Amino acid sequence: MTGKIFTGNFTQQEPIPEDAINSAIEVMRSGRLHRYNVAEGEVSETALLEIEFAEYMGSAYCLSCASGGYAMHIALRAAGVSSGDPVLTNGFTLSPVPGAIDNAGGKPVLVESTEDLVIDLEDLERKILSSGSKFLLLSHMRGHLVDMDALCEIVDRHNVALIEDCAHTMGASWKGRKSGTYGVAACFSTQTYKHVNSGEGGFLTTNDKELMARAVIRSGSYMLFGRHAAAPDVSTYTDIKLDSPNYSGRMDNLRAAILRPQLKLLDENRDRWNRRYQILESAVSGINGLFVPARPDEEVYVGSSFQFLATALNAKQIQSFISACQSRGVELKWFGSADPVAYTSRHTSWRYVSEQSLPRTDKILDKLCDIRVPLSFSEDDYQLIGEIIAEEYVAIQLDETA
Ligand SMILES: *Cc1c(COP(=O)(O)O)cnc(C)c1O
Repeated sequence: MTGKIFTGNFTQQEPIPEDAINSAIEVMRSGRLHRYNVAEGEVSETALLEIEFAEYMGSAYCLSCASGGYAMHIALRAAGVSSGDPVLTNGFTLSPVPGAIDNAGGKPVLVESTEDLVIDLEDLERKILSSGSKFLLLSHMRGHLVDMDALCEIVDRHNVALIEDCAHTMGASWKGRKSGTYGVAACFSTQTYKHVNSGEGGFLTTNDKELMARAVIRSGSYMLFGRHAAAPDVSTYTDIKLDSPNYSGRMDNLRAAILRPQLKLLDENRDRWNRRYQILESAVSGINGLFVPARPDEEVYVGSSFQFLATALNAKQIQSFISACQSRGVELKWFGSADPVAYTSRHTSWRYVSEQSLPRTDKILDKLCDIRVPLSFSEDDYQLIGEIIAEEYVAIQLDETA
């Protein structure tokens, strides 16, 4: 197949905004990079960032930390997970999710996904009953939100604590209520490929005073927790400061300075992402044999990545299709590969997790193609990307040798 070639780089993010660069330079000039290293009367960039993100979320408290995976780890610990506890999570997610459960001493209990790439609520209820688990680390994987009312009804009825992994839903909502406000705690990532970019970083938000105090001490506050501004009153820490171990994983002022101006762009960027997403969606959704997951009316998503299932192709054809797209500059990832590649991996390659049978999820992963939607590409670029995907899909069906 010949035709136009796309030359953009799928891992190229937009530059850090100038005002963010300037405040990062100011932090460096001050020399006070550590979050607790403040001048007399000063509130650190990190503490200000926490106030602003808590406000954005409408949450009482916010803790920033070293990564999204780290936020999940201490959220689980602070919610009460202890060694050997079963913790429910999606069988289709990225590896930091089962990794965080393992880090907290928990045992991942994997739940099936539906074709719309959300957690299978029937399987969830079945596994709540069979495992006796009291915790669900719900991954809003690739930004797809499950019916949050139905999910909350199930976890509430069974007294299961919900912790949301919002790595792909920062800026998203369900029926007007923000993703990350449904559970006892929510975790976010500020890593380069998520919705704000500080290289590495993460947030934990909650309305639970004790949970936040336990998380603050765990994050490595020493006895300096009074310097947090989006955290509970110091009186909350009387016992917690002595009972909680320090798992050192703080955010620093340099990254906080880079993030604060980016928070202001979050909603505007969501709309920019979604215009790009919808161009791909209309290019692919009309094609017979390619299935694009539904986006319910209740959901406001952030289209920072795009997925479809190549249901009509076998594994060999999908591989040929992906390499044909690749040769024209379009980087699709496939979750069907037996070996983990780049950010994709399947539950079967998490060997530290006990083997679990997930036939529905496996069938989906076998067909699942995924593409990043960087903001650094224009809407015209996405027209071309959509055309290339469509053309190569048609070509692969005509190719008898594939
Ligand atoms: C990136 C990611 C995380 C973890 O974020 P890090 O900041 O990279 O640790 C968690 N869950 C999902 C689904 C992710 O994609």
